[in-house]
Amino acid sequence: MRILITGGAGFLGSHLCDRFLSEGHYVIAMDNLITGSVRNIEHLAGHERFRFIKQDVTEYLYIEGPLDAILHFASPASPIDYLQLPIQTLKVGALGTHKTLGLARAKGARFLLASTSEVYGDPEVHPQREDYWGHVNPIGPRGVYDEAKRFAEALTMAYHRYHGVETRIARIFNTYGPRMRLDDGRAVPNFIGQALRGEPLTVYGDGSQTRSFCFYSDLIEGIYLLLQSDYAEPVNLGNPTEMRLLDFALLINELVGNKAGIVYKPLPADDPKRRRPDITRARQILGWEPKVGLEEGLRQTIAWFRQALKGSY
Ligand code: UDP
Repeated sequence: MRILITGGAGFLGSHLCDRFLSEGHYVIAMDNLITGSVRNIEHLAGHERFRFIKQDVTEYLYIEGPLDAILHFASPASPIDYLQLPIQTLKVGALGTHKTLGLARAKGARFLLASTSEVYGDPEVHPQREDYWGHVNPIGPRGVYDEAKRFAEALTMAYHRYHGVETRIARIFNTYGPRMRLDDGRAVPNFIGQALRGEPLTVYGDGSQTRSFCFYSDLIEGIYLLLQSDYAEPVNLGNPTEMRLLDFALLINELVGNKAGIVYKPLPADDPKRRRPDITRARQILGWEPKVGLEEGLRQTIAWFRQALKGSY
């Protein structure tokens, strides 16, 4: 296959490039590098089946030759990033999804949208199943991301229903691993960075809010299987092991051997109180479930961040 991956220099996008190249496919990565980094793909420079195009996907897209699949992963994805880049976040979810769907239609390519658990907002249903419509504040600070992704899902289904484009929607829950940006502001890089520097971990609120963290390799496998499936409705992909943020912080301090403890900071506006995917659909349709346990995944991620902090990344 010849595959376009938007956000190809980002955390998940670059791992997808690696995965599809290792399966023998031809990969074109596109990224405007506002949150992605060429360091994530520099090991692919010169690869005969890889090409990088620095471009904003909200502008007109021209790709020469055939395309079999488009994976639309371009977007700021951390709350700090999309607070700082609210217009770009809305544009890439709305205009960028329109451009990439149009390209998929023109090329007869299959399209996979990277959607998010944020479409459920601060959920009133727990755990979250795909048939839950969500509880989103459209004008809150997270609205720029949540609503852009909700619009992106609507547009994807419209292209599927009215233009017959083969589409897939992955609702991605919290995912972590190597190549997350140290300063992206999310819990995993913040906590690991702080622990490695011997600083106290900044827990927002009282730490009783929950998340369910999935290791990147499991997530990439789920995306790979979903692209090959014939299922157009959204599919949750994430790890159903739920934990309180305070316990998560304590675990990272323990794994790193950090004695500096915890400091509490104010809880950001509209921060979801509970989040856990119901992955029944992914199990049934893809035969997929996460395999990497939290401690194992965190050990690998900590080792990677240790190197990154030394400046070798
Ligand atoms: N969080 C925290 N300390 C930090 C960063 C994040 O306690 O330094 C909390 C945040 O308030 C949220 C959870 O960790 O409840 C996960 O936040 P993240 O930014 O990773 O992603 P989210 O799941 O909120 O999109």
